[in-house]
Amino acid sequence: MDGIGIALSKGRILEETAPLLARVGARPRENPETSRKLIIGTARRGVRLIVVRAADVPTYVQHGAAQLGIAGRDVLVEHGGAGLYQPVDLRIAACRMVVAARRGFDYAAAVRQGARLRIATKYVQTTREHFAAKGVHVDLIRLYGSMELAPLVGLADAIVDLVSSGRTLRANDLVPVEEIMPVSARLIVNQAALKTRRAELQPLIDAFAKAAGK
Ligand code: ADP
Ligand code: MG
Repeated sequence: MDGIGIALSKGRILEETAPLLARVGARPRENPETSRKLIIGTARRGVRLIVVRAADVPTYVQHGAAQLGIAGRDVLVEHGGAGLYQPVDLRIAACRMVVAARRGFDYAAAVRQGARLRIATKYVQTTREHFAAKGVHVDLIRLYGSMELAPLVGLADAIVDLVSSGRTLRANDLVPVEEIMPVSARLIVNQAALKTRRAELQPLIDAFAKAAGK
């Protein structure tokens, strides 16, 4: 396909990207939240949005099915980043990836004593690396959502998830016990496309950087 595809997800990322899209002159021609179309043209000539699940954005861009993408650092670290450049921190969708446990679970003591921890998460790779670097043994339990439930029903000792206000954790009697990394959304670029189509892509990358306040 000619032109430039930008892969992104509906929900939080689209919501927070919308003002940036407006500033780069790439307002969508239909509302992606309500449209059933997965490819949506924009006001910027040759630029279209490709609507996918958040965790799939790096995959589309890695394989060149989209030249650009917008994805959280959480998703990028979990993917590994092969074939991608990450030239612009868009400074949107800011939150933290944390380990959280039930109020009353003595996480520090469990780590000190070398206990084997059961950790539920959708960030399996990131979590494995985090605990390996600490020298803590973990059994990983892969979930696809609602991680907060796992400690409450005895599925896990702790979870690895994103928090912003902390309200969801509090509502489920969980507390953050360790920060893994700060998270925000990045503009990502297919490495091969940037080499072969720089004249087309660089102005759009620069426009996003400017829109994000760089
Ligand atoms: P999904 O449920 O498919 O993961 P979300 O819209 O919940 O989709 O999350 C998409 C991205 O938004 C995440 O990968 C992350 O980068 C960001 N995000 C998720 N939760 C928060 C949050 N509480 N605050 C800010 N950004 C968040
Ligand atoms: Mg979510």
